[in-house]
Amino acid sequence: MADLILFWHRRDLRHADNVGLAAARQRSQQVVGVFCLDPGILQKDDVAPARVTYMIGCLEALQEQYAKAGSQLLIVQANPAKRLLELAIALHTKAVFWNKDVEPYSRERDRIVASALRDQGIEVVTFWDQILHEPKDLTTGAGNPYTVYGPFWRNWSGKPKSAPLPSLENAIGLSETEQETAKQAGAIALPSAKDLGFVWTNPLFLEPGEVPAKARLEEFCDRAISDYGEQRNFPANPGTSQLSAALKFGAIGIRTVWAATLEVEKYARSDEARDGIRVWRQELAWREFYQHALYAFPELAEGPYRTPFKEFPWQNNEDHFQAWCEGRTGYPIVDAAMRQMNQAGWMHNRCRMIVASFLTKDLIINWQLGEKYFMQRLIDGDQSANNGGWQWSASSGMDPKPLRIFNPASQAKKFDPDAEYIRHWLPELRSVDTADLVSGNLSAGDRDRANYPAPIVDHNQQQRRFKELYQRQKAGEQTPNTPVD
Ligand SMILES: Cc1cc2nc3c(=O)[nH]c(=O)nc-3n(C[C@H](O)[C@H](O)[C@H](O)COP(=O)(O)OP(=O)(O)OC[C@H]3O[C@@H](n4cnc5c(N)ncnc54)[C@H](O)[C@@H]3O)c2cc1C
Repeated sequence: MADLILFWHRRDLRHADNVGLAAARQRSQQVVGVFCLDPGILQKDDVAPARVTYMIGCLEALQEQYAKAGSQLLIVQANPAKRLLELAIALHTKAVFWNKDVEPYSRERDRIVASALRDQGIEVVTFWDQILHEPKDLTTGAGNPYTVYGPFWRNWSGKPKSAPLPSLENAIGLSETEQETAKQAGAIALPSAKDLGFVWTNPLFLEPGEVPAKARLEEFCDRAISDYGEQRNFPANPGTSQLSAALKFGAIGIRTVWAATLEVEKYARSDEARDGIRVWRQELAWREFYQHALYAFPELAEGPYRTPFKEFPWQNNEDHFQAWCEGRTGYPIVDAAMRQMNQAGWMHNRCRMIVASFLTKDLIINWQLGEKYFMQRLIDGDQSANNGGWQWSASSGMDPKPLRIFNPASQAKKFDPDAEYIRHWLPELRSVDTADLVSGNLSAGDRDRANYPAPIVDHNQQQRRFKELYQRQKAGEQTPNTPVD
């Protein structure tokens, strides 16, 4: 009889290229998956219906894969420290394997679960899977975690990377008696997102599961990666991979993604194509930079990294925040982007930067409100990338460049010059002149006809106000070090 190993899936909802799962299969043929619908996550007030719907779809696909491989994926719905433990004990599990995470909540949860399992004599074995280099292997010369992206990228890109791992195959699952035992210990049928209280009726941005994620990667590598350096900034074009939800939930392995870039590089014939591949890899490195940062500095999840922002006098006007959330600020590029997120559950990266700058620098609203709203809406909402993106945009993060203020009109002129994106997401403005849509200078008549609001703030005025507040905060920060006569 093979030893039973439970593999606890979390953000690695796939069979192929899964470090912990491959190790579990190497150790024993009897590998059974388990996923815990954790109320500690699902009952938080920042969970997006699109994200839960995508996740449930991935779990459904994963259950089918387990069945094909000869085993099962068990579902439990409770605090894992209780239910996973009960399940492991009831099934006389030899060991529980899982892949580590960087988020503070997950790390604390894992510590508690590991200790409860070990107390019962059940072995716990953990791995790094969702990143190409684990934090201890990627440090500055002095052995510290990186706080600046440039040197991180240089070190990260120069290091050899592991190849993808094989899929789970030829496994042994639970016998009928063991399946009954699992049920008694709390294993349930997979609920729908609706059963869990999350309703998402719009199409999902990416079909859930490993197969669609792999197909999307292949399509992107065939079609768009060569032009990525140029096209990735234009929100009206499908110039990016749109793989973020798959990467967030691990519907695709990061080694598989890296290997695809190596493959496409072999056939790249122009400098432009090689540049596209390099720039895309830089984005993968941003993803990893933010994961390393959150791992090394868990306090990032709680607030700003830079001192001038710790007590920043945000204005937090509630009406302005509401207008921003609903895409009714009177700035067409900002409103189009917010409507894209509200309706599609995804927003183009250029637009994430524009709306985040607008919330923090034009509306002078605390970035943490925007961070939470994004988590409530995004299919790919991910604590490290979202927090990193917001702190970058608010200038409160690690980035050494302190004040980055985007002018919505200049951004639209550069990246949506024909107002194609604006018209798509603000159909009520479809017949307005392109130049006016781009500049945001709509006539009163156009606004009235479309029932579209006037700008809720003046960009130039707010920009000056923000800079003054920032300078005051900075001066305050230096006060303790100023010698007193
Ligand atoms: C304010 C703000 C909030 C953000 N919130 C999230 C979030 O919750 N989840 C998320 O995955 N990304 C977030 N991003 C990063 C980025 O916008 C998305 O990863 C990207 O738009 C996803 O589209 P794509 O898959 O087509 O990306 P591509 O351009 O094809 O990039 C490939 C992959 O690299 C990663 N990536 C790309 N850009 C970044 C970046 N700047 N930071 C970290 N990872 C990156 C993603 O995993 C992405 O799928 C945020 C950015 C900003 C400015």
